[in-house]
Amino acid sequence: MTGRIDGRPWREHLDFEEAPTLVRHLATAPAVVILYLTGMRPQEARTLRSGCCPDPGSTGPHLIRAHHYKNVRDIDGYHVSAGAERDVPWVAITPVVKAIRILERMVPEGELLFSATHHDVVSQRQHHGALRAASLDRRVEQLIGWINAEATAQGLPHQQVPDDPFGNIGLGRLRRTLAWHIARRPGGLVALAIQYGHMRTVLDGRTASGYGNRARRGFHGELDVETALAAADTAARLRDATAAGERISGPAARRALIAAAHLPRFEGALTTPKAAAKFLSRDGQVLFDNPEAFLICAFKRDMALCDPASNATAPNQFACQVGCGNAVRTDSHARAARTYADVLDRRAAHLPEPAGRRLRLSAIRFRSLADTHDVQSLDASEVVE
Ligand code: SF4
Repeated sequence: MTGRIDGRPWREHLDFEEAPTLVRHLATAPAVVILYLTGMRPQEARTLRSGCCPDPGSTGPHLIRAHHYKNVRDIDGYHVSAGAERDVPWVAITPVVKAIRILERMVPEGELLFSATHHDVVSQRQHHGALRAASLDRRVEQLIGWINAEATAQGLPHQQVPDDPFGNIGLGRLRRTLAWHIARRPGGLVALAIQYGHMRTVLDGRTASGYGNRARRGFHGELDVETALAAADTAARLRDATAAGERISGPAARRALIAAAHLPRFEGALTTPKAAAKFLSRDGQVLFDNPEAFLICAFKRDMALCDPASNATAPNQFACQVGCGNAVRTDSHARAARTYADVLDRRAAHLPEPAGRRLRLSAIRFRSLADTHDVQSLDASEVVE
């Protein structure tokens, strides 16, 4: 037994009777990883084949050759149920490549990664084709049940998967969940310490690799909608905060206030990829919340210090740099920076050097951001005068 949970071997031995159930979960977990970290549609993932993601050597990222099915038509306009290979492959980050490699060890070469014949280890019914969508959805629920039982058995009840108020976690929901996290939690941690911000960079490989051709369809359209909605929320919050008397500072303060004032024209109109893309293309007038850096980013590409791509419509928030001309802070940001500095000081008191010193230096940096805001901030009416 080499696998560990919370530092301990997760089993002393494997029960022969339990093995088929574990194999079933071992196939379901990669399905979740692939769908959650690529943005693929479930139908596309179910029909991936062994060998779809060859090792690129040192030449670049792993690419997945997949088939897509939506709106595939022949020259007479009839829907082609067999689909067609995507012109532009998906970019696979490391966990996705590992998930594919696990599945490739479970099916013969060239076979469907989710082949019904090879994954029906419990009943062995020899069905043809890929596992059905409903069957995979059911397997996800069974996997969650297994995780929760395992968490209890391992004395880690806090690691249970909580009930979802919106019902079962169908695989079709993962695309939107990924878009939501990339747009709204750019610095947050996703599985295996990959940051959502980095996911945007990987996905924005579309701009260099031809993803742009499909950008307004499929996942990138969904990402644009979620990003535009998050930006609209940020603008509305800034407007409310300054209306409530909060002061504002930063080189882009004037631009941000004007952008927030123009928001009413867009509210409620950002639900289509086309409208969202148009909203995001207004360079310098779209506001991105960046709570990790305690600021709002009034993103203007040419001024950005976080090295965005030449045609990016969103900043690389995870790489936010002090001193950027797009930064804006309100009193709330200054308060949050001070609260966080206090947390860092408390943590530092329990850490040996040099880790403790590093945290104390960070705390000083955050307090200094807040002090600068206090000195330079103005009332909104003074800024737009
Ligand atoms: S470096 Fe500038 S453009 Fe990039 S996220 Fe920070 S404030 Fe925005």
